[in-house]
Amino acid sequence: MKIHSINIPGYECVRLCNDQNAELEAIIAIHNTALGPALGGCRLYPYATKREAMEDALRLAKGMTYKTAMANLSLGGGKAVIIANPKTQKNELLFRAFGRFVETFNGIYITAKNLNTDSICMDWIHQETSHVVGSSTGSGDPSLMTAHGVFMAIKAAVKCKLGRNDLEGIKVAVQGIGYVGYYLCKELYEHHAIIIGCDKDESKINRVVDEFGVVKIPYDQIYKQQVDVFAPCALGAVINDKTLPLLQCKIIAGGANNQLYDEEKHGAMLCQHNIFYVPDYVANAGGVINVYVQEIQKLSVADALKITNNIYNTVINLFDICTQKNLTLLETANNIVKKRLRYGAR
Ligand code: NAD
Repeated sequence: MKIHSINIPGYECVRLCNDQNAELEAIIAIHNTALGPALGGCRLYPYATKREAMEDALRLAKGMTYKTAMANLSLGGGKAVIIANPKTQKNELLFRAFGRFVETFNGIYITAKNLNTDSICMDWIHQETSHVVGSSTGSGDPSLMTAHGVFMAIKAAVKCKLGRNDLEGIKVAVQGIGYVGYYLCKELYEHHAIIIGCDKDESKINRVVDEFGVVKIPYDQIYKQQVDVFAPCALGAVINDKTLPLLQCKIIAGGANNQLYDEEKHGAMLCQHNIFYVPDYVANAGGVINVYVQEIQKLSVADALKITNNIYNTVINLFDICTQKNLTLLETANNIVKKRLRYGAR
């Protein structure tokens, strides 16, 4: 196994690994460990180039630092990417080699499930390192808690922006009905919201049409919907130069990571369009809260739920501060994170 480090300004440690026997090509990026070891999922994806893989790892690692700091967890931010084809290369040898790569970080990086990786992959990694969460004996699917956190963020945003304590008749457009989108639709349905949804995969959208009365629309029509809330739960960078002028929503709060293509530019544009944007890393922290509370703190799912519920108060507090200081919610959240990374939580 060949490992080499590269120096990336703003990142504590970035290493590339190549193991020819296992056909492993991977990158682990540690953004910041000021508050604790860097926790971040391991994504397996057939990136077209190494550069693309590196950009993904760096962007997502920084996002994890912000997410864990904002949620007040004693964790830092990191991420791993494996450049491979999920259909043909997802095997024990590859993940055990990846586990040995994780072990070289001596615990400053803890890996977890992410795109195209599951608890079986984490079991293989666990044969080589203890610095892994989400194995088959772990805390299970985090998506349920992620979706619940998004739901709490939507509730809080509706309170701040529309002055409503409930979601009855509130129109929500959900983009992507995967794990997070499905559970979000379920909770919105139980609270009598009107749900509009789309997914590239017909079977996924049809399921929520049947189960929760979701109104199905073509996936390229989602941005134009006249709704109270737009909840991106599919991909990153969906708020960009092309999509932003189409938006007819009052609030954006969803599960996807890195929703803004250019944080500074599109954050400011959303503000000009009077759209209340709940930073993705605030809204979608439920999954990492769940894994931290259950697998690192060894507490119960009820404890994880309590902390995830607090996303509601976080959004309300951010709103109060940003109103006083005449900043956006995103600027306010970013300032709080930067302060925590410098001085700790209090
Ligand atoms: P997933 O892969 O199960 O779901 C994504 C869904 O989006 C799929 O059904 C896919 O068909 C659909 N999709 C892809 N492109 C689309 C498009 N252009 N329009 C409409 N639908 C499209 O993933 P997930 O676990 O539900 O996660 C959703 C998002 O939330 C991802 O961005 C993920 O990184 C982020 N996230 C997930 C968790 C978690 O706990 N699962 C935690 C934090 C963040």
